[in-house]
Amino acid sequence: MSSSPPAFVIETFPVGPLQCNCTILGDPATGEAIVVDPGDEVEKVLSALARHNLRCRAVVNTHTHIDHVGANHALRERTGARVMLHEQDVVLYDNLAVQAEMLGLFPPPPRSAVDEHIHQGDRVKAGAIDLEVLHTPGHTPGSLCFHLPGAQPLLVSGDTLFAGSIGRTDLWGGDFDQEIASIRTRLLALDDHTRVIPGHGPETTIGRERRRNPFLVNL
Ligand SMILES: [Zn+2]
Ligand SMILES: [Zn+2]
Repeated sequence: MSSSPPAFVIETFPVGPLQCNCTILGDPATGEAIVVDPGDEVEKVLSALARHNLRCRAVVNTHTHIDHVGANHALRERTGARVMLHEQDVVLYDNLAVQAEMLGLFPPPPRSAVDEHIHQGDRVKAGAIDLEVLHTPGHTPGSLCFHLPGAQPLLVSGDTLFAGSIGRTDLWGGDFDQEIASIRTRLLALDDHTRVIPGHGPETTIGRERRRNPFLVNL
């Protein structure tokens, strides 16, 4: 019983004024990495990649709120990574200037090209990392969570699920009932020991949220 799980690099750090959690998933054997939600601090992301000797192959977004996508363009330019997100969040992505104005941020970050639309059940790969795409509409129509199965399963949950709470649904395209349905069908289906890295704040597990999150206890 010494089948140790592959030692992937998993590093999360907050970026930008709204402290969005950026997560780097890297395979040290091949030097390939996926960056989830690079926020707006490209230098911080690049130095974390360099520290682990990783090349960014894909930039994936849990959704296209401005605090999660600000460095997409710069990271794509500097690394050649492909930008991937759900097509139902493209409208939001096309309106970064409006989002910036609502938050009093100026100037808005440039919008990168979108290299690939990703959907429920798709996989995003980098080296031996095989990330499963879960479509979890509710916070935004194109909200995604990313699931890394295995002995130590991981979920990057964006603004769909937080430690002790869930994402707000009062912004453009938000839908509370849809969000609850997404969490019930896609996230609560995961193992209790799945480690959860949310889009903001501290990490948690599926089991802890199933038992203690006030929005989920009666599902
Ligand atoms: Zn959001
Ligand atoms: Zn956010």
